[in-house]
Amino acid sequence: MLLQSWALRHVVKCFLEVETVRPASKPLHNIGEETMTGELPKGRLPEREVTRLKKNTQQAQNRVLVLDKNKQPLMPCHPARARELMRKGRAAVYRRFPFTIILKDREGGQTQPAVLKFDPGSKKTGIAVVADFQRGKRCIFAAELEHRGEQIKKALEKRRNIRRSRRGRKTRYRKARFENRRRPQGWLAPSLQSRVDNIASWTQKFRALVPISGLSVENVRFDTHKLVNPEVEGIEYQQGTLFGYEVKEYLLDKWGRKCAYCGKQNVPLQVEHMTPKSRGGSNRVDNLTLACEKCNQKKSNQTAEEFGFPELRQKADKPLRSAAVVNSTRPAILRRLESTGLLVETGSGGQTKFNRSQQGYAKEHWLDAMCIGDSGRQVFVETQHEVLEIKAMGRGSRQMCRVDRFGFPRTGAKKKQKRVGGFQTGDIVKAVVTKGKKQGRYEGRVAVRSSGNFNIKGRKQTTQGIAAKYCKTLQKIDGYTYNRRTGVSSPL
Ligand SMILES: [Zn+2]
Repeated sequence: MLLQSWALRHVVKCFLEVETVRPASKPLHNIGEETMTGELPKGRLPEREVTRLKKNTQQAQNRVLVLDKNKQPLMPCHPARARELMRKGRAAVYRRFPFTIILKDREGGQTQPAVLKFDPGSKKTGIAVVADFQRGKRCIFAAELEHRGEQIKKALEKRRNIRRSRRGRKTRYRKARFENRRRPQGWLAPSLQSRVDNIASWTQKFRALVPISGLSVENVRFDTHKLVNPEVEGIEYQQGTLFGYEVKEYLLDKWGRKCAYCGKQNVPLQVEHMTPKSRGGSNRVDNLTLACEKCNQKKSNQTAEEFGFPELRQKADKPLRSAAVVNSTRPAILRRLESTGLLVETGSGGQTKFNRSQQGYAKEHWLDAMCIGDSGRQVFVETQHEVLEIKAMGRGSRQMCRVDRFGFPRTGAKKKQKRVGGFQTGDIVKAVVTKGKKQGRYEGRVAVRSSGNFNIKGRKQTTQGIAAKYCKTLQKIDGYTYNRRTGVSSPL
């Protein structure tokens, strides 16, 4: 309660403060760097400037990441510069995704401060690298990281079902030991932990390839986000889930710290399922309320309606949709980022949104990341900018034997080795098939088959039966797949 009202006041205050400095005219548009930094001279622009601005509205690619000959990160360069260096033989490709070159002759070099920014979401996390040049701040790399929380959840559920059915078949009596487990402090469900790990892993990757001087992350609740600007932008983006401590705090707040049935205050309250669990009620917060022990006993196996409180349901439905939906991964993400030892800047969702709308940028994850915190106030980005789509894929399954829907073995036990002919599922390969039906060039993620004829998943389609002898590794499996797309930062 205290925390929330504080957060609310804080946000309202922030909002009022920034409201006063808002220019009287319509918000700025992303027409050029000068507009962003506010140093644009009044009146007509000289001809030279106009062409420069026009050029800026063109499409831009992500910068190419650069390492010196000792594999120390240098300032990322323009793709044209990278092409030139490689043509002259002064550089070689170090990594395909994100595209990185290594200089053969250079050792050390001047760097500018670059901040790595994350906007953590439940399905996608926006990533932006913002460099602080003399001319102003500029987005030099944009990416979106897609998590695999749902797949992890599904896989664990499947495993649990297989185990249960096996124990049902093979064990007549097995001592109950479901309560004989303890979770370490700060434990997160595996699907949530994977999100935290993905972000930590990409922090590490970027630090190895870009001279990162600081981190920036959005770490405040969704409800503050919505309070500042209540427009809804898609369920996926805003829905988080409540867990443990937050659920209790949330319920206490929502039900006014009193029994929902008799209204008694200052008594121990219990979490109560409006539709009892025994009758299929869920653990979702919209099915939970608070009750004193007496009422809970009295209600027993009835639903709230049967117990004579049909109005509770409506009350429960409302706040879930409108306010406080807490993302429990955010504190964990912040802790992980802070453990790098770099300076970590935090920002609220409200601030991000304000920065973004002030600069006239569209609603995209990578643009949100770019606009986080104080460092996201005046950042220039081209109207169209390349975005590297990173998708977490995992590294294969540990299941030794696939089963049919009855839980019986469908395949033989899995072979131990994952590699076939030097390739592993998840490697990114290029294949040039010179003869036969499959003649042509293929590039993409490979799925190995013990027969030696692989599947290659390209941008558009998957091709089956490509022999290993035609394949060449471009990048070894790292648990992610990549795709490039064009992101539009502002409607111009
Ligand atoms: Zn009561």
